[in-house]
Amino acid sequence: MTHSTSIRLDSCAKTFANGAKALDPMSLTIEGGETLIFLGPSGCGKTTTLRIIAGLESPDPGGKVLFDEDDVTALPIEHRNVGMVFQSYALFPNMTVQQNIAYGLKIRKTPAAESKQRVGEMLEMMHIGELRDRRIDQLSGGQRQRVALARAIAVRPKVLLLDEPLTALDALLRERLRVDIDSLLRSLGITTVYVTHDQAEAMSLGDRIVVMDRGKVAQVGTPQEIYFEPQGEFVADFIGTMNRLDGNVVDGVFQTAGGTLPLADKSNGPASVLFRPENARLLPSEQASLSGTISTVFFLGDRNRLIISGISESDITIEAQNSVSFEPGDRIGLAIDSKNLILV
Ligand code: ATP
Repeated sequence: MTHSTSIRLDSCAKTFANGAKALDPMSLTIEGGETLIFLGPSGCGKTTTLRIIAGLESPDPGGKVLFDEDDVTALPIEHRNVGMVFQSYALFPNMTVQQNIAYGLKIRKTPAAESKQRVGEMLEMMHIGELRDRRIDQLSGGQRQRVALARAIAVRPKVLLLDEPLTALDALLRERLRVDIDSLLRSLGITTVYVTHDQAEAMSLGDRIVVMDRGKVAQVGTPQEIYFEPQGEFVADFIGTMNRLDGNVVDGVFQTAGGTLPLADKSNGPASVLFRPENARLLPSEQASLSGTISTVFFLGDRNRLIISGISESDITIEAQNSVSFEPGDRIGLAIDSKNLILV
């Protein structure tokens, strides 16, 4: 088993020369071999954090970056042994696929025979063997991104840094390459930091996810923890669909315009509850303590999405089987287990 490098950020903040504060002090350990995802809306500081890890950006004074026990804070990117892939490919357009993959090996003066062997391995691993002699400008977006990954991995970096590598691709290609990247990362066991604003990518690829909000870490956890136990409303709202009901709690019963729900929590007073669409069961309205009116039905093929109004201030989104027909204007009841309600 080869050693995988751990990464430690110690109070890494970033203020740009124009005074823009991109990052509050962040301390975080990324385990060797782990795939860690930075997830958050545009401008929250994901790329800045990745660039600090890469050595393309220095943290503000006092911040430190460690690879294993080595302090690399002052080392530029070319001395950190990191592989990087960006949203835009940054490949050499008029070189062939092979030449692009071999580029980093050439810079490192890898002997020709070894370089040839590694390029061969990469072509096979990324399923691009038949493209080896094509020029980059003769490739599709998905093929280019495979070459970019192959080039980054060919040098056997300590750490792989990926910044929105799938964002420029169409939905089907993203899905396919996501599956390939997943098996690639698992087989390599290389420490990987992956930046995305796409939840599905984060959920499926991440061992852990760091959710970021305006330069701060909102939550660090496994995909399951982030989804099922969101800490705070930002994470709850940002990840998946979250419904919100506003109302009052009286003796363990939540009361809102559309009816009542039993709660596990007994405290009284104004409150809101959050719940995921999949945690609500649909019932005939006369059998439910909570009910509303279907305002819109979206047919999604494998299921229907219902928008229900009149339960609370905001509309509720629920997904239903496509075999049952629902019409706008229908009354509908909801049942939600108290264990699936998040009281805020
Ligand atoms: P996106 O998904 O849009 O790339 P992000 O989460 O990666 O967003 P960053 O690129 O890290 O966000 O930017 C964080 C903040 O820092 C933003 O407000 C951005 O405008 C600012 N910023 C980034 N680079 C610089 C720079 N070189 N000079 C000044 N401000 C910058």
